[in-house]
Amino acid sequence: MSVSQNLKLINSQLLDTSAQLIAVTKTYPPAVIQEAYQAGCRRFGENRVQELVPKYEALPKDIEWHLIGHLQGNKVKYIAPFVSMIHSVDSLKLLQEIDRQAAKNHRVINCLLQMYIAQEETKFGLDATEAEAILTSPELLSLNNICIKGLMGMATFTDDQTQIRKEFSDLKQLFERFKQKYTSQNIDFQELSIGMSGDYLIAIEEGSTLVRVGSAIFGRR
Ligand SMILES: *Cc1c(COP(=O)(O)O)cnc(C)c1O
Repeated sequence: MSVSQNLKLINSQLLDTSAQLIAVTKTYPPAVIQEAYQAGCRRFGENRVQELVPKYEALPKDIEWHLIGHLQGNKVKYIAPFVSMIHSVDSLKLLQEIDRQAAKNHRVINCLLQMYIAQEETKFGLDATEAEAILTSPELLSLNNICIKGLMGMATFTDDQTQIRKEFSDLKQLFERFKQKYTSQNIDFQELSIGMSGDYLIAIEEGSTLVRVGSAIFGRR
């Protein structure tokens, strides 16, 4: 199937759900991304700054770019002028740097807290206690150029659908709890970023608002 056929199928699956599609373009060349753009796709995700910046520069400017991979503080300045949302915030320190760079660009950058929900060992992501420490920290109050829009998570890489569903549903519950409990000028819980090529249909059923899909659109990397 072609990129446009894959997009058509996925968009039809998203119809009448709460989820929007982010086409994950990491490792795919601009020509392939152009194909998705021609087919109407305007929301793209990259997981590395080094790849995101040249693609931003090469492609049409009405594209909404999402940074979905781990972000180092010293790289924030390269994406602050244009990035639409950063899904991978895992510390207050990073949030402070995003705020500083967003202010320089006279922007407010939307951020998601990346939560650790999988069973496997990974270096990245917060647990509920750590996320709450950020949401309640006094330092957050002075950050006028970021807005925390919700949570992101990646399920365990497994064929066990029950486990994946459980991880997504636990995160959705946490999302609802935080949404109830925390609102301020820079906390506005709206987005739950869950679901990739292998599990986006489960994620949609569990309340995803943003699915991050790459290989199901563009083919194997
Ligand atoms: C690569 C990646 C995706 C998309 O993965 P696919 O399996 O190709 O759909 C989603 N989220 C993150 C954080 C990624 O790095």
